[in-house]
Amino acid sequence: MALSIVWTKRKEKDKNMSKVIRYDHHGINVAVQEHLRGKHTEHCLCYLCGKFKPGTSENCKWANLNYARCMATPIVVSPVFECAEFVNIV
Ligand code: SF4
Repeated sequence: MALSIVWTKRKEKDKNMSKVIRYDHHGINVAVQEHLRGKHTEHCLCYLCGKFKPGTSENCKWANLNYARCMATPIVVSPVFECAEFVNIV
């Protein structure tokens, strides 16, 4: 299926199902689909990964990079759904 068809169907679905709201996140006023607000920690693979040690010098370099990018751009939250360097928590 062509990407444009997928995109059009997604937009139609979202228009019918999703309400977009705004709130302040990390001090920035952001837009989010209401049903997804605050859900990134439930879906982000990093929270299940042994390399994820936020706030420490041992934190994953890719998680740090993702966070830095989020803070430097208007895309404030970007959960990781797929990652080649994931390791199980031991
Ligand atoms: S290795 Fe991947 S899943 Fe694990 S913390 Fe880093 S970015 Fe997240």
